[in-house]
Amino acid sequence: NSDFTYCNEIIKEFENVVRKPVTKPSSVYYTGVDLGTAFIVVAVLDEHFRPIAGEYRYASVVKDGMIVDYLGAIRIVREMKENLEKKLGTELKYAAAALPPGTFDLDSGAIKHVVEGAGFEVTNLLDEPTAANAVLKIKNGAIVDIGGGTTGIAIFKDGEVVHVADEPTGGTHFSLVVSGAYKMPFEEAELYKRDQKNHREILPILQPVIEKVSSIITRHIKDYDVKEIYLVGGTCCLTGIESIIEKRTGLPTRKPQNPMFATPLGIALNC
Ligand code: ATP
Repeated sequence: NSDFTYCNEIIKEFENVVRKPVTKPSSVYYTGVDLGTAFIVVAVLDEHFRPIAGEYRYASVVKDGMIVDYLGAIRIVREMKENLEKKLGTELKYAAAALPPGTFDLDSGAIKHVVEGAGFEVTNLLDEPTAANAVLKIKNGAIVDIGGGTTGIAIFKDGEVVHVADEPTGGTHFSLVVSGAYKMPFEEAELYKRDQKNHREILPILQPVIEKVSSIITRHIKDYDVKEIYLVGGTCCLTGIESIIEKRTGLPTRKPQNPMFATPLGIALNC
């Protein structure tokens, strides 16, 4: 199963190109658009499937996996596309996008229209855990994607997805807990939570909500032979979250160095 070598390497390269894009021309560009509850991430890969540019923005255009601000979403993705095109000196024509597991019937049209509305031709729409697994490359186990609004779970057996679920608990709930505990406005609590310096202090406060996520995971994996849990999604940046989940589920639980970028990079790899 995954030793995270490739995953950590490609994520590190992506973090570098977000700061400083690679301007060497490529014969083709693969773009992934990840529209999330908390962040919109656009990742661009070159002809060798290596990251060359990327951007992410905090935005509230999606709620619980559904687009709630359609025009806002188009505007932001278009702006990000134009910024990246300026940096790369080329037009980005094609993009792939992803949806939380199990929401294809509900929302695939909306996501596609946003990405098209921003000026891309959509080459692929895939589910988020499948995207994440393009980077993690696991054959067996559960990928748990704890995002802003939801927790997505996908169980893999011999490289195939055998069960998916998406439950409405995620980082937004973590921020609400911090906001309540510290009597801080939500936006302030959100920033306080994201700052790694505060992780040790807030972990005990967040323990009950992490245990809730763990019970969701346990419920979904109980009928399957899952031996390992792999964490992705921005909320898994929280230092120590993996230990609580491991203890509660009783299963070895691992995460890449920066779990926030596995899905957007996986989307771009599937463009
Ligand atoms: P969803 O998948 O639910 O639609 P999303 O795609 O926006 O949401 P991600 O970008 O994977 O989700 O994660 C966003 C969440 O991660 C937010 O709640 C954010 O506060 C949290 N997050 C991001 N960075 C950190 C950090 N350093 N520490 C703790 N939480 C973080």
